[in-house]
Amino acid sequence: DRFRAIRLTQGEGGQTLVENVTLSTPDLMDGDVDVAVEATTINYKDALALTGRSPVVRRWPMVPGIDLAGTVRASRSPLWREGDRVLLNGYGLGETHWGAYAGLARVKAEWLVPLPDRFSPGEAMAIGTAGYTAALCVLALERFGLSPERGPAVVTGAAGGVGSIAVALLAKRGWHVVAVTGRPSEADWLRGLGAAEILERAELSAPGKPLGKERWAAGVDSVGSHTLANVLSQTMRDGAVAACGLASGMDLPASVAPFILRGVALLGVDSVYAPQAERRRAWARLAEDLDPAALSSLTSPIGFADIVPTAQRLLAGHVRGRVVVSDVAT
Ligand code: NAP
Repeated sequence: DRFRAIRLTQGEGGQTLVENVTLSTPDLMDGDVDVAVEATTINYKDALALTGRSPVVRRWPMVPGIDLAGTVRASRSPLWREGDRVLLNGYGLGETHWGAYAGLARVKAEWLVPLPDRFSPGEAMAIGTAGYTAALCVLALERFGLSPERGPAVVTGAAGGVGSIAVALLAKRGWHVVAVTGRPSEADWLRGLGAAEILERAELSAPGKPLGKERWAAGVDSVGSHTLANVLSQTMRDGAVAACGLASGMDLPASVAPFILRGVALLGVDSVYAPQAERRRAWARLAEDLDPAALSSLTSPIGFADIVPTAQRLLAGHVRGRVVVSDVAT
């Protein structure tokens, strides 16, 4: 059984080298389920791994790709049978365990989630870790007790993967969504996804005051740094912000003022090691609330050969929404 793959190795100077290789089943790492990869995608983290911009890869050589959807080819676990349709997000795939940019992936049975009936493998990858993380953020805000009557919800990095799906999910549940973007050219598209207001990124990206005017009750932030600090300082009393990303920076130059003077909460969201029950809740929500038309409006198909150049465009902020790769196995 031979299949194509992207393999990353580390050069002598520590740089990331990308090779297109042909692998066979015995090359794969340990795992009890073999999945024929039918579709994958490129997340921000994949782009960091492929370009070596950040130390995402923690074992060499590595087959990158943190998200896959496909069909079980062979299972040595009672949890899955040949022919089951499955998806996988995270769990170290593409970081510590060989990942999705290969025709076949050998993984641990407990990492897999059933592919919701509503989605094809390509549609599940249009959602991918970015969309599943957006759903985790929405669930975290709801678990905190927030609902649309409390006020607007702000979404930063709105034209990106996490942001665009967060806009769609929040709008579907009745939130007045304020979409923050550095790409005003995408305003109409964001309104089509359900945004009620568009805010220019620059309004939140410079250092701001410890407390600002109260503007929103809830937030989904994929940007970090000054943007998150400003989102917090403008959150209404007893509101909450789900933080999941660092597109602008890992730092958080904030003050405690919103927490101690307004009871604002900061909710951390990690998709990589989220427990199975929470993953299944997130995928159930995506299947319930994501309109297929919205999904196709935020998806661009690309070929396996386009993965590396697309990763560079994504880091430059030039990819709108999500990309899907459906020719992994050919
Ligand atoms: P993406 O598609 O590249 O979207 C990121 C968006 O952030 C961009 O589209 C852009 O939105 C905005 N942005 C980029 N650079 C910026 C800057 N310097 N200042 C302000 N805004 C900037 O990436 P993604 O896949 O959605 O991921 C977004 C973030 O979430 C990444 O940091 C990723 O690592 C993180 N993430 C975390 C988890 C988790 O488990 N915690 C899971 C998935 C993703 P506009 O063009 O609209 O301004």
